[in-house]
Amino acid sequence: MGFRPAVYRIARDLGLTGFVYNDTKGVTVELQGSRERVETFLERLKASDKPPMADIKTCETADIATVEDENEFTITGSDSTGTALSHVTPDIATCRDCLCELADKSDFRYRYPFINCTNCGPRYSIVKTIPYDRPNTTMSVFQMCDQCASQYTNVIDRRFHAQPVACADCGPKIWLTDSGGNRIASGTDEVIAETARLLIAGKVAAIKGIGGFHLVVNALDNQAVKTLRERKKRDHKPFAMMAYSLETIGKYAIVNEAAKKVLTGCESPIVLLDKRTEAKIAPLVAEGVSSFAFMLCYAPLHHMLFEKLRQSGVDALVMTSGNISDEPLICKNDLALERLGSIADAFLMHDRQIHRQVDDSIVHFIDGQPVLLRRARGYVPTPVLFEHGSAQDIFAAGGDLKNTFCFVKQNQLICSEHIGDLEDAEVYHHYVDSIEHFRGLFEVKPQTIVCDLHPGYFSTQYALSVPNVRVVQVQHHWAHIASVLAEYNLTGPVIGLECDGTGYGTDGAIWGCECMIASLEKFERFGHLAYYPLAGGDLAGKEAIRPTLSLLMQAYGDEFALERFGWLLDRIEPDKAKQKIIAEQIVKNINVVQTSSLGRVFDAVAAIAGLGSYNHFEAQLPMALEAAVDKNIERAYGFELTKVDDEPVQIDLRRMFVELVDDIAQHRPVGEIAARFHNCLAEALVAMAKRAAEAAKMNTVALSGGVFCNRYLANEVIKLLKAEGFSVLFNRHFPSNDGGIALGQAAIAAMAKVNE
Ligand SMILES: [Zn+2]
Ligand SMILES: [Zn+2]
Repeated sequence: MGFRPAVYRIARDLGLTGFVYNDTKGVTVELQGSRERVETFLERLKASDKPPMADIKTCETADIATVEDENEFTITGSDSTGTALSHVTPDIATCRDCLCELADKSDFRYRYPFINCTNCGPRYSIVKTIPYDRPNTTMSVFQMCDQCASQYTNVIDRRFHAQPVACADCGPKIWLTDSGGNRIASGTDEVIAETARLLIAGKVAAIKGIGGFHLVVNALDNQAVKTLRERKKRDHKPFAMMAYSLETIGKYAIVNEAAKKVLTGCESPIVLLDKRTEAKIAPLVAEGVSSFAFMLCYAPLHHMLFEKLRQSGVDALVMTSGNISDEPLICKNDLALERLGSIADAFLMHDRQIHRQVDDSIVHFIDGQPVLLRRARGYVPTPVLFEHGSAQDIFAAGGDLKNTFCFVKQNQLICSEHIGDLEDAEVYHHYVDSIEHFRGLFEVKPQTIVCDLHPGYFSTQYALSVPNVRVVQVQHHWAHIASVLAEYNLTGPVIGLECDGTGYGTDGAIWGCECMIASLEKFERFGHLAYYPLAGGDLAGKEAIRPTLSLLMQAYGDEFALERFGWLLDRIEPDKAKQKIIAEQIVKNINVVQTSSLGRVFDAVAAIAGLGSYNHFEAQLPMALEAAVDKNIERAYGFELTKVDDEPVQIDLRRMFVELVDDIAQHRPVGEIAARFHNCLAEALVAMAKRAAEAAKMNTVALSGGVFCNRYLANEVIKLLKAEGFSVLFNRHFPSNDGGIALGQAAIAAMAKVNE
């Protein structure tokens, strides 16, 4: 990331001699000169003069004897001592210096849509193999002109060894085609003007960016958003948007200081922000949720397009992944035309090939801290430095939903970007290819593979199919808690609270809401949500009537009868025969699993509260319930903690359901109902943590699991735990949903190696 050139520049500036090199442990600098100048060097390196991307975690210094015959400062090659890892960095948003040049008529890269430097531009997405050098990137096909080459080879230039360096004379170009691939505009200015014109006219554009194609429409034009939804066959899930400036985003959403910092950071993720009620964003962009998903321009092309659009008053664009439903993001020109030809009216293409498709990352805020919901562009492949590394390479296969995988190489846990849901065949292929790509890129040869306990997971089957390796299976929720420990470089034990959809348990039941005493070495199931029967396999996660019936039957016991609750159930499932079949399934235990899933409880409560009856996308009903919460309501529904013999402590929500149904019957406001439900869960979880703390004599709690993507619940639980004197850990740099599973698996397997 331009660290060595920065060191070089400062050392030369101060007249110091010596050298700099980097390896897997970090950067080593040897300096010779007056003590005063050496100290100035350190100050400048730590403060103002380091590259924007660099983050100095620790800095150790030691005196050494004078070195004779040293009369200059040099950058020594790191290829002999370093590994691939120190070379491949994430894709970084266009830096301020490059933006200035982009707008500077006298600069030879004036209005060049691929301007970049050592501090910005594509990296991970264009690297094919190691070492990270231009011939091994997709830039290899472009022969540098003299002007670019002189910057590339000049050690004091901002573009020294910036592999994607290029200009209008020698680098990639943009063009625009119709949906049939016929060129409708060429030349930068014409392409941008025509794309802007089409977007203003309400058309759908496919625009190739850094990590893949986006499908793009004017976010202020409801008809255009509707067209995109219809063509993409995506009815409900909120769309992400891009805006030109913080001021624009501030018009539409609440942007506090913490959010500003993340939005303008060099990773440039999508950030979830509370909507402003008066916002003029098209209603169809994000219905049924309380937040908008915004990112700022991160490629020069975005900046140029917005400059044109703003002249016509368009300052926000829907920028959604260029793919079909849950398939992988499309990054190749011909494939884009083939697959997205029926969705987009025009295609803004370029000829800088994307080798790795990388989705936009997503960040939201928990307890005032930025937390990743999806970790991809801008963050991958930065490793987690883990104290308890393994001498032997390890591969962690991850989970099946929101899959990521992870390699352990010495003290580094290298996680992949968001891959997707493996049940889609295209995504599964992409998963297998990506694993191979990582093996090459980071030179890993794992002899141990760690995967989920679920025998039906595609990731488990993949792991079991690899010959000549040892396979270790790790329980899903233990991996969730381990992901928190890995992030904080801890080994435990801690009290783990997992609030999750579903994960395979050691007793064959489907676990979800769990309390564990867990370390990286072992876990004990201290408590869980009382099991309830769930009928209908995969449908149980979509049709809210299924968990609703189970939970009401459990809450009312013998007093339950379909007729008695017809007034409520008919709203959720009008087909009475179907209600009857499901109820019978539950009673007779046909195609039924026992579960402690919390996600399905949310589905049931949302449905009973009248917020919908079907998850068209994952967590639609839980998100609607969260969005409905009236934050002024502090009261909670009742619950009980019960314990029988040596069984784990159970959270019993029967009272909650009875009180909930009474509230519905009395037409209490939905905001109050949603709040009382969330507050009840928060209180129950904290009560559980207190029991565990007494039993295990510890007061650190780690939170993880997909349900903690619910900001209201997470914030309430953290607030209550802190008030009780607990120290609270939660996922920040990795998602608390299944996107973090691989990291946890990797940490557990690495620890097992340490103990062997
Ligand atoms: Zn730059
Ligand atoms: Zn050039």
